[in-house]
Amino acid sequence: MSAGRESLGGIAQAVSCIDGYDPDALRVDRAAAAIRACLDPVKDSEIVALRESLGRVLAQDIVSAIDVPGHDNSAMDGYAVRFADLEGESTLRQIGAALAGTPFDGTVRAGECVRIMTGAVMPKGADTVVVQEVCRVDKAGERVMVPPGQKAGQNVRAAGEDLKAGAPVLGPGRRLRAAELGLIASLGIGEVAVRRRLRVAFFATGDELASIGAPLREGQVYDSNRYTLHGMLARLGVDIVDMGVVRDDPARLEAAFRRAAAEADAVITTGGVSVGEADFVRELMARLGEVLFWKIAMRPGRPMAFGRIGKAFLFGLPGNPVAVMVTFYQFVREALLLLGGVSPSAIPLLTAASARSIRKVPGRTEYQRGIVFREDGGWKVRTTGQQGSGVLRSMSEANCFIVLEHERGPVQAGEPVQVQLFEGLL
Ligand code: AMP
Ligand code: MG
Repeated sequence: MSAGRESLGGIAQAVSCIDGYDPDALRVDRAAAAIRACLDPVKDSEIVALRESLGRVLAQDIVSAIDVPGHDNSAMDGYAVRFADLEGESTLRQIGAALAGTPFDGTVRAGECVRIMTGAVMPKGADTVVVQEVCRVDKAGERVMVPPGQKAGQNVRAAGEDLKAGAPVLGPGRRLRAAELGLIASLGIGEVAVRRRLRVAFFATGDELASIGAPLREGQVYDSNRYTLHGMLARLGVDIVDMGVVRDDPARLEAAFRRAAAEADAVITTGGVSVGEADFVRELMARLGEVLFWKIAMRPGRPMAFGRIGKAFLFGLPGNPVAVMVTFYQFVREALLLLGGVSPSAIPLLTAASARSIRKVPGRTEYQRGIVFREDGGWKVRTTGQQGSGVLRSMSEANCFIVLEHERGPVQAGEPVQVQLFEGLL
């Protein structure tokens, strides 16, 4: 554990260095920078079998001990020839075959060729592969007619083309996906060192919350935030500790915060940070650790708390269900990746034409829920309609956030806007 994570006072000190830091009107980019400045990634690692490393964070350098592929080999089914033999239409004598896994062990000499299959090692003497579809072969299968127009070296995959022996392949901080599992397997490596999984505890706060299974009394709503949080956290591959619903009661909240902070690397709560409720939570936080209360210049998601209780980082998200998801994706996701040892890359912003005008005032970043669709050969986006921060249906209908930048005013129909797509291939 580094000194920064142990020393109280570290949070206030770290954020004071952020240019334009104003807790009562904090720009989204400044809030993200403030969080980044405080985080201290986990260092511990463990060795796991390659399959188990899917979604985990690499904690070692992977260096290739071998060339991949190990030999020059054919990219196609066809005939391995000496390019120097080809002139106009050429007739070559077939002297054998090279199959994937069964090399041809002679040498191809002037006027000769070898039948070759995809992945088979290039026979000695041959340098070029002519695909079978363009060749004609006599009845006896001895003479192969090659048409003109071949190129030297065509259809040959060079040894080391994918990876060269001694070359660094992957480094610490890479989150391992299907391609990396295959890449590591292609080097013959069956176990890798990965960072330990991050442990994240969360609970919902609110006297009005009912849990599934209990009847709804007047004025109550079912707690949905714990389920969206569960879904969002599960996708990040962290260990999840769901602590249920905690009443707006100082003693119960204190006990919950203490237990969560003792068990987890990060604690996420929802509710209790809005103006009407923040005061007693603030008081509680001041006793338990070091927590900053922010008014972020964004919509939805204005109030948010960030700080540390003991060794655990705290993300106090607003209570409104859409605000929970927006603040999670804009701040918590990246923070958890960083804490888990990942070097995250920014979620790409793509441009689409706004199908309709959108109301927006300068001075805050908005994350409207949008639907990207194709029309007239281009990508357009429209909002899902009602954008209230309690309307969770808007998140379910959407396939993107429409990100309306801080300075931006109203959007006219047809103007380009930036979108963050929800779905990715990998
Ligand atoms: P708060 O931030 O605690 O003032 O809550 C803001 C709004 O979000 C209120 O309408 C709450 O009822 C609602 N809310 C808070 N927590 C939850 C939850 N866990 N599930 C569903 N709605 C919630
Ligand atoms: Mg509340």
